[in-house]
Amino acid sequence: MPPLNNKEINAIFKEKLFYLGEEFNLSLLSGFVKTLYQIPIEYATQALSLAKTQQDVNKKPIKLNYSIKYLINEPFNAGTCNRDGASFIFINSSVPYLLFKACISYAELCDIKKSTIKEKKLKLLATKKIKLTQKLDYSLANPESIERLFQKLLKDSAHINKLVFQYALFLYEIAIRFLTMHECMHVILGHTGYVKQKFNLDDYLEFSEEREHKIPLSTSQALEFMADRNTCRGILVQTLQGNSIYNVYSSKLKSSKLSREMLISRSVTNALSIILHIFPGKLIENMSETLIKTHPHPFIRMQWMITEMSYEVGDENSFNHYFLKPFALNIATFKDNFEIKYPWTLLSDKDLKEGSYRNLFSYTSYKKIIITSKQVQKETQPFKLIY
Ligand SMILES: [Zn+2]
Repeated sequence: MPPLNNKEINAIFKEKLFYLGEEFNLSLLSGFVKTLYQIPIEYATQALSLAKTQQDVNKKPIKLNYSIKYLINEPFNAGTCNRDGASFIFINSSVPYLLFKACISYAELCDIKKSTIKEKKLKLLATKKIKLTQKLDYSLANPESIERLFQKLLKDSAHINKLVFQYALFLYEIAIRFLTMHECMHVILGHTGYVKQKFNLDDYLEFSEEREHKIPLSTSQALEFMADRNTCRGILVQTLQGNSIYNVYSSKLKSSKLSREMLISRSVTNALSIILHIFPGKLIENMSETLIKTHPHPFIRMQWMITEMSYEVGDENSFNHYFLKPFALNIATFKDNFEIKYPWTLLSDKDLKEGSYRNLFSYTSYKKIIITSKQVQKETQPFKLIY
């Protein structure tokens, strides 16, 4: 099967586009705002082009056709699907705006030389917590609204210190890269091919009800964990290697006493905390109840991801300084999510109340997901594109 051009891929997904929503016209955006929308497309293209140069599990060249689009619709933040030899990755068009706005609010509370929220002996110095108030909706997501909202946001941010703005951009880049690469991972690791063949599921929408009914929930959570672990570790390593656009640590901040490795690890932890606060899906109060949902609770996903990232950097003693400290400060900084008045501080208290470290829900559930993932990985193996 030869590679398809964009027109042919669009024809394959015509019915999906009708069902999932109108395409967001990027050409209606301009300058800086357009760049913010192009960043995830650039990274997804890099990853999928690389996957195309590899061989499949039968040592045959991979034939991967793909398309990445922003869509205007309400019910999802991102998703992906496979059809007739092509992969389609889609992001809701209000995501970059909501995310960038949250990154600016967050960066304003940061001590950038330490890459954590401003604190003294782990006590927050900022008196106001970050409250995320908006959610995805159609009126927010069309190009005219987006351009208008961004212009207002940029005007309101004009007073912000240049370094703070640059740090917000750095966090935005990591976070949007995470969202997009997480979807690419569902394709590259074979998840979309697997759920289509085994469970007759065409669209791998994050948090969809169809998915909840068709895929066993333990399998669903294992797929999420595998996409998360590959994405967060990959982004951390790539950012450390210098593959990023807005990296504030590439030239500036040489005056910081902390290592570049520590500052970047903290920043990735911060960016992931922001994005998991913005898109919680069906967030419920008790984290153990999330075992019956498609995704692990975002609080638990974060715990698992910082554990995974710690295998890539530092030594055994650096986990607390690289990941746990910024994560703990983030837990304390976000007030609520817009969907539910239930901050992560309460979940954290619940987790810690269980007693010894080995009894923590976050710890025992991590042990379990590792075992389930190994089993699920064997099943998804034939659909896997690389490694
Ligand atoms: Zn996912």
